[in-house]
Amino acid sequence: MNTAISRGTTPERPNGARILIVGGGYVGMYTALRLQRKLKAELKRGDVEIVVVTPDPYMTYQPFLPEAAAGNISPRHVVVPLRRVLDQCKIVIGEAQSIDHAKRTATLTTLATLEEGAEPEQISYDQLVLAPGSVSRVLPIPGLADHGIGFKTVEEAIGLRNHVIEQMDIASSTRDPAIRDAALTFVFVGGGFAGVEALGELEDMARYTARYYHNVKPEDMKWILVEASNRILPEVGEEMGKYTVTELRRRNIDVRLETRLESCVDRVAVLSDGARFPTRTVVWTAGVKPHPILAATDLPLNERGRLKCTAELTVEGVTHAWAAGDAAAVPDVTSKQPGSETAPNAQHAVRQARTLGDNIVHFLRGEPLETYSHAYAGSVASLGLHKGVAHVYGRKLKGYSAWFMHRTYHLSRVPTFNRKARVMAEWTLAGLFKREIVSLGSLEHPRAEFELAAGGKPPEDPKGSS
Ligand SMILES: Cc1cc2nc3c(=O)[nH]c(=O)nc-3n(C[C@H](O)[C@H](O)[C@H](O)COP(=O)(O)OP(=O)(O)OC[C@H]3O[C@@H](n4cnc5c(N)ncnc54)[C@H](O)[C@@H]3O)c2cc1C
Repeated sequence: MNTAISRGTTPERPNGARILIVGGGYVGMYTALRLQRKLKAELKRGDVEIVVVTPDPYMTYQPFLPEAAAGNISPRHVVVPLRRVLDQCKIVIGEAQSIDHAKRTATLTTLATLEEGAEPEQISYDQLVLAPGSVSRVLPIPGLADHGIGFKTVEEAIGLRNHVIEQMDIASSTRDPAIRDAALTFVFVGGGFAGVEALGELEDMARYTARYYHNVKPEDMKWILVEASNRILPEVGEEMGKYTVTELRRRNIDVRLETRLESCVDRVAVLSDGARFPTRTVVWTAGVKPHPILAATDLPLNERGRLKCTAELTVEGVTHAWAAGDAAAVPDVTSKQPGSETAPNAQHAVRQARTLGDNIVHFLRGEPLETYSHAYAGSVASLGLHKGVAHVYGRKLKGYSAWFMHRTYHLSRVPTFNRKARVMAEWTLAGLFKREIVSLGSLEHPRAEFELAAGGKPPEDPKGSS
């Protein structure tokens, strides 16, 4: 086997190849892991350098965000520290602002450039892996940008948990029925994975928490799920989607299908069916769109803004550029429908990262590339403690068995043994003791106490709504 690494093309690396990975999420982290494992000798000799550029020093295991919001997993255990797992790579905390692939350069802002007020840095590369994922697809709905919150990051998940408990505290202490009503109304827009799981877990947590309030009962709260299409959770199929609607309604959750949010100006959620809900909580989970950085490259995009890719995970029509995950339009070779693309989910992202890493190694060694092929296996979703729904390899499960499968599956998938052990320990302890019901929203204002002591004003609206 020919193990020679192709030589670098830039003057600063006459003998090596720099692989630049943009994004430290599923694709970025798993690709880097694969490369660092397969190119051990080359990394040691300095023939290859792997640079990962990412805004945060951790990878977020997004399927655990709803459990983090419910307080079943602590925020630190939902993330994987990149510097520890990618110890053979260079981690740069920053953001790619643009990419000139023709010149093999990326322009980055880093914490240092921001601190120094300096111009963005240019970094050259030989191979580019573009994996910035997706961002919330926000529509121009009046008031949404001012009052909505997404559910894609650990900050949002924990912020929402604190916010929900704070609203219960407000409701418990106010004498104004209008404020109480708005505080206890929670509107979620979007009936996909993120929306249904976040609502299911938070409602379950709030229902439990209510038993510690003398004047807030579960039936005082309004939980509303708004979905534009006629079904929710399409990932688990039609039958299980219908079951989920029935299960949520049984819990007194107001599921409104074929309904859209039209406005949330002045903290009143106005729906397309005419309903109006004064509320301090609008959670927007109505889909994702490819990351806007893709438009700041000279690489080809499809009509939906995803990078046009081949089934070998190269970017179409160019050399030395690779992509996968939510940002990439990868042909689904297992589908009978011509033109199908793989869906933006973790199931594909993890597997694509493995093939992508292998293909870069094949490319560097002059070997033929592999084709990415994976038929969607189905999905599992949690709807709260001991409640779930699943449709995996044709098997449909609901209730406790689906919830148990959800936990087992994600425990097997969360990266590193360290994280698995910590999550397992937390679940075990949670089974032995009562649930956590505390809100630490004040963590978001760590200087408030000191500022007050120093004679300053307390921060405005410390119980600020999202
Ligand atoms: C709440 C929730 C629950 C989910 N549950 C499931 C589930 O149960 N099953 C499932 O299959 N899928 C699930 N998903 C979807 C899954 O998490 C995504 O499909 C997956 O994360 C996509 O991987 P990715 O690497 O493409 O993007 P990401 O994992 O989002 O990674 C993108 C990375 O790029 C970084 N980045 C962004 N911009 C830049 C820039 N300019 N420069 C450098 N870096 C940048 C980001 O900070 C991030 O680290 C869920 C998603 C959410 C939000």
